[in-house]
Amino acid sequence: MQTSYQVVICGAGPTGLMLAAQLLRFGIDFLIVDKKAAPTTESRAVVVQAKSMEIYDQLNLSNEILSDAVKTDGLCFWRNGKKISQASFENFGSDITPFDFLLIYEQSKNESLLYSYLQKNNQEVAWNTEFISYEKMQEGFVVTVKNNDTESQIKAQYLVACDGGNSLLRQQSGMEFRGGTYEHVFYVADTHIQADICDSKLNFFVAKDTFNLFFPMMGKKRFRAIGILPKEYYHKEEITYQDVSSQVDKDAGMDLGFYDTQWYSTYKLHHKKVKGFNVGNLFFCGDAAHVHSPAGGQGMNTGLQDAYNLAWKLALVINQKAKKKLLATYHEERNPVAENLLKTTDRLFSLMSQNGWFNTLMRMYIAPNVAPTLLKIKALRRRFFLLASQIEINYIGLTLAKGKCGKLKAGMRFPYFTLLIDGKNISIFHIIRDSCETTFLLFYYNIKRPETNHNSIKEIEIENNEINKEVLQKVGFTNSFVCLIRPDNYIAYISESFDRSDFQEYIDKFFF
Ligand SMILES: Cc1cc2nc3c(=O)[nH]c(=O)nc-3n(C[C@H](O)[C@H](O)[C@H](O)COP(=O)(O)OP(=O)(O)OC[C@H]3O[C@@H](n4cnc5c(N)ncnc54)[C@H](O)[C@@H]3O)c2cc1C
Repeated sequence: MQTSYQVVICGAGPTGLMLAAQLLRFGIDFLIVDKKAAPTTESRAVVVQAKSMEIYDQLNLSNEILSDAVKTDGLCFWRNGKKISQASFENFGSDITPFDFLLIYEQSKNESLLYSYLQKNNQEVAWNTEFISYEKMQEGFVVTVKNNDTESQIKAQYLVACDGGNSLLRQQSGMEFRGGTYEHVFYVADTHIQADICDSKLNFFVAKDTFNLFFPMMGKKRFRAIGILPKEYYHKEEITYQDVSSQVDKDAGMDLGFYDTQWYSTYKLHHKKVKGFNVGNLFFCGDAAHVHSPAGGQGMNTGLQDAYNLAWKLALVINQKAKKKLLATYHEERNPVAENLLKTTDRLFSLMSQNGWFNTLMRMYIAPNVAPTLLKIKALRRRFFLLASQIEINYIGLTLAKGKCGKLKAGMRFPYFTLLIDGKNISIFHIIRDSCETTFLLFYYNIKRPETNHNSIKEIEIENNEINKEVLQKVGFTNSFVCLIRPDNYIAYISESFDRSDFQEYIDKFFF
């Protein structure tokens, strides 16, 4: 049995599985362990944001998701048992991403999909294998795991904690996990609803002291219900399913008629974040690094993005294609994202849950009346989508980003557009996907071939024709450019012309 790996991943939730799928791209020798027996069967997170879909698309998994997911086409507001308004989620901007919609695809499905992707690529997960402890050695770690009451030791060069909000690895590392716990009691149920509510939209029931939100799920009249319970439940020892379903009816002002409920739970929510995303060669990803309210459906997606950000950096350093200091950019890039996420989800959750005259007025009267009107305005609809979909997250101004060109800056997500190549319309994301055996892609347009002669860089010329010219201008490029793209589709380096020494200086800083 193999006892030494380049990377050991603790936890095969969505974050750990995504990290594993990404490490496979780079041929890294890793072990992924989880104490559970198989991918979760609990739906848990339900929203897959567009930015996550772009990652899945790069793994060639987006079609599988689309065939088994629900596209929500809008939002209905309800008050005192009456539908008071509705807004459309359609046409967020097909020029922004091929996935310009809000997709419901449960965490259980994400986990199964990623697990079967690993299996198809001859990679197993060590299920029923619990992380127990680790010891820091001069080079890497010795990790103790337990399987069927038998403990064993494994050597790892790098260790990644993807073991969720209660991360044992994080606790053993002594890393601070700062933040707090909301006093509210939160409930979640996967259920069927008898009442006639909008079955392809989010249904938001606003009330004086609470809120209830229903997401449409696959299956007739099937919904994910989430919400908070009123104050009298805050310190109650046991809250039964019956308590919840009758309370939800009371708050919604109508008999919703929950039936055939597959999953139900109540819990307290935390908002916490690690002080640092790593301690030496031990990294924290996903809920092990940050937990927050599910307002906005960001948690699982942020974990997927953490994994996407870390994987290529680890791989390049392990494969001796990058200097070790590249790994410090994981904290530099992901820490502000988590910080911002905690702030925005906290604000949103307060608005949705707190009493006080202002929040109550906003929740009960202003939001239901104003939101549908605002969402009719194209520019605002796009802003809302860019924010919620995680597409706007960027690393502009940070260490790995250099240069700008027109409206585009290094550190931005590489924009989506389609090009006319040999008479065919082709998605730039598919060009990137089909070339992802090389680490970096260098697109150049309307300039001489850069000839970087670097074995990790594939140079791709963008055909100069009238249609492409118009497309590139619309996206914000200038009339000529070079643009180096990282393996996670962010712009590393961009310039209107190719200055060999400037480019080389950029490469030499981090890469071999
Ligand atoms: C009700 C609810 C609704 C949510 N809705 C959304 C949503 O709509 N959108 C969204 O993006 N997020 C949502 N979230 C948050 C989302 O579920 C989490 O952010 C996500 O699960 C984090 O994934 P993870 O892989 O980091 O951690 P987890 O999913 O917690 O996975 C951790 C894994 O580590 C394993 N593990 C733990 N300890 C050990 C150990 N000692 N040894 C071995 N294995 C171990 C566990 O078995 C588990 O498989 C929701 C969460 C809840 C509870």
